[in-house]
Amino acid sequence: TPAPTPAPPRDRGGLLGRLTGRAAPETVVRRTLDDDMLERIEELLITSDMGVETAARVAANMAEGRFGRKFSTEELKAVMAGEIARIMEPVAKPMPLYAKRPQVVLVVGVNGSGKTTTIGKLASQFRAAGKSVVIAAGDTFRAAAVEQLQIWGDRAGVPVMTAPEGSDPASLAFDAMARAEAEGADLLMIDTAGRLQNRQDLMEELAKIVRVIRKKDPEAPHNTILVLDATTGQNALSQVEIFRKIADVTGLVMTKLDGTAKGGVLVALADRFGLPIHAIGVGEQIDDLSPFDPEDFAKALTG
Ligand code: GDP
Repeated sequence: TPAPTPAPPRDRGGLLGRLTGRAAPETVVRRTLDDDMLERIEELLITSDMGVETAARVAANMAEGRFGRKFSTEELKAVMAGEIARIMEPVAKPMPLYAKRPQVVLVVGVNGSGKTTTIGKLASQFRAAGKSVVIAAGDTFRAAAVEQLQIWGDRAGVPVMTAPEGSDPASLAFDAMARAEAEGADLLMIDTAGRLQNRQDLMEELAKIVRVIRKKDPEAPHNTILVLDATTGQNALSQVEIFRKIADVTGLVMTKLDGTAKGGVLVALADRFGLPIHAIGVGEQIDDLSPFDPEDFAKALTG
């Protein structure tokens, strides 16, 4: 078989290229890292969706021990990437797998964030790792969502449990739990509704799902993954705040990082919440879910 063609490097429009201009290759221009330069760095970081607070922190970290010294653009890029990677390293953690059977994974997030797609991708990865998986289509009010999940289940080779449209998601979750137990499945992934328009309803619905599965396993759900869409930029921060009030979020997946989103919001998320980032979505296909790599991410972000 022919060797796979390597994917072209992603261009996120390198931040620092715009800051200092590209010097001709033979002349390396060095500029002093002073207050003026730091202010411009901060502004550029803000344009990457990092938010004011986190941008200020990254700029301050860059200045520490380096203020007043001269740097080329390439050197500054490396410094910036290093400081961003340092913030991201503690949160780069794949979803933990437990010996517990079934390990219950509740997946939450607003509609359109990529929940269904991410569940399909994760199920496929777990299957490839030799795990048996059951999916429950817990967004029983959206027929299209259930259909989509069935398609993803077929692709991943994983059974998808559904319930009639409009029926109680908690009772589906209970049945799915019973089936996963009976089959000795390693993982049960439960999709949930993402209607933030009626937060009270959603909160009660999620609480009821949790209550019902805890009748079978007091420690479930073992993971509650919040799926966020990178193209919503700073909005992701308020989504984390809202969902943390509704559910006990244990980790994040950020989708759509293959698009134009610069992803700086991930740095803000790490800085503010410190929640593990389990994976990132980099496309619409089943294999387009990557582990989160802080160094690659920081390099891609700084350009
Ligand atoms: P849900 O409503 O949260 O279940 O969202 P879906 O899983 O249906 O995804 C919404 C749309 O986003 C679909 O068109 C997906 O193909 C697309 N999508 C999901 N994840 C990614 C990703 O990582 N990259 C890209 N480019 N598109 C994605």
